[in-house]
Amino acid sequence: MSQVKEYAIYLCEECIDGISKECHTPGCALFLRTVDFHIDNARSKLGAATRIQAAIKAATGRLIEP
Ligand SMILES: [Zn+2]
Repeated sequence: MSQVKEYAIYLCEECIDGISKECHTPGCALFLRTVDFHIDNARSKLGAATRIQAAIKAATGRLIEP
C-alpha cells in the first residue's frame, strides 16, 4: 500500500495565468524563476497535462527528481 503525501505550494495569479515571464511575487513557488521556461520544461519532461499541473511539477520537481 502506498502512502499518501501532502505537498502544498503557493502560486500567484500571474504564474497560473502565465501573464509574466518572470515571477516577482514573494511567496510564490516560482518566485524569481522564468515561469514559461519552468512550466514548459515540466510539461514536456514530466508530461503534465495542464498549466497548473505543470507549475506544480515545476515547483516540486527538485524534490521528486533532484
Ligand atoms: Zn508567481
